[in-house]
Amino acid sequence: MFNVENWQRTLQQLSQAIYNYEQWHKELTRIIICRLPYGRRDLAEDAHRQCRFGQWYYGDVPQALRDHPGFVALEVEHESMHRFAAQLLRTLANELSVSPSDYDNFANALDRFHRGIYTLKHEIEDSLHSRDALTGTEGRMGMLTKLREAFEMAKRHAEQCCIAMMDLDHFKTINDTYGHLLGDQVLAASACYVMEHVRLYDKVFRYGGEEFLIMMPGTGLQASQVVIERICSGLAATVLARDGDKPIFITAAFGITLLDPDVRIEQSIDRADKAMFEAKTAGRNRVCVWDPLISSEGMFPVLSQLDSISQP
Ligand code: GH3
Ligand code: MG
Ligand code: MG
Repeated sequence: MFNVENWQRTLQQLSQAIYNYEQWHKELTRIIICRLPYGRRDLAEDAHRQCRFGQWYYGDVPQALRDHPGFVALEVEHESMHRFAAQLLRTLANELSVSPSDYDNFANALDRFHRGIYTLKHEIEDSLHSRDALTGTEGRMGMLTKLREAFEMAKRHAEQCCIAMMDLDHFKTINDTYGHLLGDQVLAASACYVMEHVRLYDKVFRYGGEEFLIMMPGTGLQASQVVIERICSGLAATVLARDGDKPIFITAAFGITLLDPDVRIEQSIDRADKAMFEAKTAGRNRVCVWDPLISSEGMFPVLSQLDSISQP
C-alpha cells in the first residue's frame, strides 16, 4: 500500500543521505587535491558501511524503500565507489601519482552511484506528486496515461483489461453525522482497503470526491468480477474508523466493464459509471457488470447479484 506520509518521510531520509554522500565526496576531493591527512575510515575494508551514507543504508531504512530495485542497486555502486576511493588514497599515501585508469575507475563508479541515487529520488518524488494526498491512490493525471497503455495492449489483442468504477454509498451522511474530518478518515481507510485487496498489477485512481477507478490489467470480466465482489463484501465488513467506541462501516457500489478496444476510453469509463449507477439504484453495496450483449441497444447493464433485486 502506498502511504503518502511514510514516503514523504522516506524521501527526507534519502535527501539527508544524499547530502551526507555529497559532503563525503567534497571532503575526499579536498583531501586528495590538497594532500591532506585522511581518516582511517576511508581505507577500511568496510568503508562503505562506515561512512554516513552507509550507516543509513545498512541501518533502519523503511522496508518499502529497502524493497525498491533502485535502492537495492545502489549497494554495488556505493561499495565500488569506496573501493576505488581507498585505492586513490593508498596511492597518494605512498607518494605515488595516481594513474589515469585508477582515477577513471573512481570517477565512473562515482557517476554511476550519483545517477542511481538521484534517479531513485526523482522516482519517489514523481510517484508522490502523482498521488492523491488524502487517500494515497494515484491521481487522475496519470490515469489516462495508464488506461491508454492498457488500451493499446487490448487493441493489439495482447491483453484484456477491466476497469471498475467505485462510489461510496451515502457518504454524505457520514460527513453530516460525524463531521468532515471523520469523513476524511473513512474515505482514506476505504481507499486503503481497496489498495490492499487488489492484485499486484492493479491500480487504484481517485476519480473524484468519493469515487475511485480500479484498473485491472490482464483480467477478463469474470476474473475481475471475482476480485471486485470480494472487495465489495470485504469493505462492508471492515471497521474503517471509530466515533468514540462506535465502529463506522461503509459500503460501496461498483460498476465493471471491459476496456473495449473498439470504443474511446472515455466511453468505457462511461460504461463502468453506468453500471455503477445501476448498482446504486438496485440498492447499493453491490457489483454490476456492463454487458452490451444483453440488450439490443447495447447499453444495458447487467446486475451481478440478480437475487438481491426485487422482481417486478
Ligand atoms: P450515494 O450513495 O448516492 O453515492 O450517496 P453519497 O452521499 O455518497 O453521494 P453524494 O454525491 O450526495 O455525496 C458525496 C459526498 O462526498 C459529498 C461530498 O462532500 C463528500 N466528499 C467528497 N470528497 C470528500 C473528501 O475528500 N472528504 C470528505 N470528508 N468528504 C468528501
Ligand atoms: Mg459520488
Ligand atoms: Mg457516493
